[in-house]
Amino acid sequence: MRCGYCMPREVFGSDFHFLPRAELLSFEEISRFVRVAARLGVSKVRLTGGEPLLRKDVPRLVHMLRAIDGVQDIALTTNGLLLAHHAAALGHAGLDRVTVSLDTLDEDLFRSIADTRAPLARVMDGIAAAHEAGLDPVKVNMVVRRGVNDGSVLEMAEHFRGRPEILRLIEFMDVGESNGWRLEEVVPAREMLASIAERWPLRPLSPQPDQGVASRWAYEDGAGEIGVISSVSEPFCHGCTRARLSAEGRLFTCLFASAGSDMRALLRGGAGDEEIEAHLGKIWGRRGDRYSELRAAGAGSPAAEGAATEGASEGAATEGASDGSAPRPARPRSTRRPRIEMSYIGG
Ligand code: SAM
Repeated sequence: MRCGYCMPREVFGSDFHFLPRAELLSFEEISRFVRVAARLGVSKVRLTGGEPLLRKDVPRLVHMLRAIDGVQDIALTTNGLLLAHHAAALGHAGLDRVTVSLDTLDEDLFRSIADTRAPLARVMDGIAAAHEAGLDPVKVNMVVRRGVNDGSVLEMAEHFRGRPEILRLIEFMDVGESNGWRLEEVVPAREMLASIAERWPLRPLSPQPDQGVASRWAYEDGAGEIGVISSVSEPFCHGCTRARLSAEGRLFTCLFASAGSDMRALLRGGAGDEEIEAHLGKIWGRRGDRYSELRAAGAGSPAAEGAATEGASEGAATEGASDGSAPRPARPRSTRRPRIEMSYIGG
């Protein structure tokens, strides 16, 4: 798939150079890193991407992660196309739950958004197979873009009401640099909720400890729950506990980061577990990422120079204007670093 909001074909086409295999962390390296992270308190692991099911033998990785002391929850996010094929093996290996991306139930719109020739039925078969494999819960992620699939929100809500899957409506985010994000295309979560609640009244569910990024709502008529992820309209940086490890072993402490820390060099360079643990603890301890909050403070101007997670403070300098007018905030010269792509660090 080449969803335009994440991995557009114009950028990630057939001439795009993906990382050579030797650059990728092996399953053994990933597991070792997770073992060290678990000693620092990490208990939830999500395999995402890119498309995690494109990597050969992912159930073997799940099995290795399952054996790590302290890892209590293993989840996977997928576009669903290969899920029917792998669900049983993933379940046997110890995967707890799965999230499937699906932005509409309209066949033509599905193919257009995902830029794929694959039929929607393959994703639906994947969801069914996930249930059969005992993966629970199965969540469905719908990224909503105004003028693209906002017309599908009610149909999606209706379809998944009363079913075991939990639909989560996600605001279109300005992740990466390639998806042509515009604020006008963001449908605020409260607007989506209002349109659903008008038809099927909703009540807020109290947050569960460790519930993650979505706020949860229950249908008053008992037809289950729905989640919204409002990272643009109501950022939740302050409560974020996620770190992301890229396939080549770079660690990122924010979805909107520009740079990551090279863990592969440590893993391959002979560092002991204690050294890696100390390094990881230091990175985590000094993180100050709050891109989405800065974006919100800038009245929806995510491209604000210096708003990237590193170097954010540089925007505070001032300079005199050459035309003699009053000093104005300096445009930091080199602070606007490109944000890393979501398909690289995982959604
Ligand atoms: N390939 C897998 C998939 O399709 O689910 C995993 C990777 S994808 C980056 C993970 C999640 O991020 C998906 O549910 C996707 O819908 C979401 N996502 C990607 N780009 C997004 C954007 N610009 N705004 C909001 N969510 C986005």
